[in-house]
Amino acid sequence: MTPDGRRNPAKATAGQLTAPQLQELKDVLHREHARLTRSLERAKRDGPVQLDQQAVGRLSRMDALMNEGLAQPSMSRAREEVGLIEQALDRVENGTYGFCQSCREPIGVDRLMAIPEALHCTGCRL
Ligand SMILES: [Zn+2]
Repeated sequence: MTPDGRRNPAKATAGQLTAPQLQELKDVLHREHARLTRSLERAKRDGPVQLDQQAVGRLSRMDALMNEGLAQPSMSRAREEVGLIEQALDRVENGTYGFCQSCREPIGVDRLMAIPEALHCTGCRL
């Protein structure tokens, strides 16, 4: 109990993140990176899914549409996202991960858990 309400020094290591939290976020970033990279590669290779008569099979076509349905409208967003995730992983490596790029304060753990590649704290985000 600190009488003046200053932050608990035990929590001050690596921003606000504990080692397991950092590890978890790193895993999430790696997974997301792999997933987005795969989607982008597939989109580059196959082109956008089109409703044409050349469907290899109705079922697989349906599957493709179902899968692409979510990702397709946001390919440029996905590319952007990959860049942000790569930057986030760089920051994990050099120890600056979890700090706001504007005010240098630690970004809240809740926010990082929701958006692991976040660059800014809730106060600074646009
Ligand atoms: Zn900030």
